[in-house]
Amino acid sequence: MQVGLRDRTHTNMNDLSSKYEAKFAEWFGALRAFSFWKGRVALYAILKAMGIGEDDEVVLPGYTCVMNVNPIKYLGAKPVYVDIEPETFNIDAELLKGKITAKTKVIIAQHTYGYPCDMDVIIKIADEHAIPVIEDCCLALGSKYRGRIVGTFGKAAYFSFQWNKVFTTGLGGMALVNDSELAEKIASLCVLDLRKPSRREVFMLAIQLGVYRAFVYPKTTALIQAIFRYLTKKGLVVGSSQTGEFEPKMALDFFKGISVIQARAGLRQIKKIERNIEHRKKMAQLYDQLLEEKGWKSRGYDTDSMEPVMVRYPVRSADKGRALAEAAKAGIELGSWFECPLHPIETPLQTYDYRIGMCPVAEKAAREVVNLPLHPRVSEKTVRKTVEFVVRFGQAT
Ligand SMILES: *Cc1c(COP(=O)(O)O)cnc(C)c1O
Repeated sequence: MQVGLRDRTHTNMNDLSSKYEAKFAEWFGALRAFSFWKGRVALYAILKAMGIGEDDEVVLPGYTCVMNVNPIKYLGAKPVYVDIEPETFNIDAELLKGKITAKTKVIIAQHTYGYPCDMDVIIKIADEHAIPVIEDCCLALGSKYRGRIVGTFGKAAYFSFQWNKVFTTGLGGMALVNDSELAEKIASLCVLDLRKPSRREVFMLAIQLGVYRAFVYPKTTALIQAIFRYLTKKGLVVGSSQTGEFEPKMALDFFKGISVIQARAGLRQIKKIERNIEHRKKMAQLYDQLLEEKGWKSRGYDTDSMEPVMVRYPVRSADKGRALAEAAKAGIELGSWFECPLHPIETPLQTYDYRIGMCPVAEKAAREVVNLPLHPRVSEKTVRKTVEFVVRFGQAT
């Protein structure tokens, strides 16, 4: 093959990932997409291409994953946390206004659990101050706000395809870009600096993906997760988060693209995406109905403007600790993000500029919220069983 044909200038110089990126962008009707090893790497690429650096402030919800904050810290910028709304767990747009300073360079709108943020208000505030918005769509692939798909509101958005996202390629991330200048900048960054995953990483990822496809069903998930966690500790798994990533220091091989395996898995998942979304909507409705029958207060998002595609179904439990402890034994797939404002709990919050008490609504949510499965392998029977289980612990209000 000629060199010119292979040298497509963006991300990975292989045709399959270019095809994956093109299909992904096309599905959104967006300008361009760039694939990365993980979602957090996509965020880093976007921030770096925007020129974020020392002394800049990046505003985001105080109910997030520390992996989202790392790229901000890697670039020397400062995360500024905003509390969330209790119903959607998304950034409280009213509080957001008060956090904007002359140093604010980016607003990250994280669409939590699949609920779209109140984009009208956020975009209005951003425009008034000429600050770009990046959408965190890691938990919201396919959600719509006023009929428009999330990921197309801001200058850029990013996605994760890690194990428990809307679809998985083992690990994986994507930056979706709606601005041609920014797209050019990301493309040049990739040409200059993007590494390839090592053979060892690709090999282990392939095995993990095989295990996942063969064994992960709602009943076995807790067990498989425990095994993976154990193996990760022993250094035998390319985990989604190595222990080194709980401090704001960037690894030398952080800025990586994807492997052919991920591109192939991603292309296959895009073909199935409509079915995946339909399933999630149907199962979420069933949760709504069954929980309501049990006398639980229903979800409080604005059904006029929001059409969420939920990655998991969040509920507030009156006894989160016990529910989680008993779930594994009962064969129930109960999730727990976020366990603290900067998930996971081990995080030394102060090194990330978070002080306890900064976001009380988020802290309360972290104490109460468990999430219920919705992925393609969840059947009506799983939903019924999960509801029966979770209502035993009562609803927190
Ligand atoms: C999963 C997740 C990320 C990070 O994705 P990775 O692919 O694990 O880097 C970022 N933000 C949110 C809200 C997520 O859920």
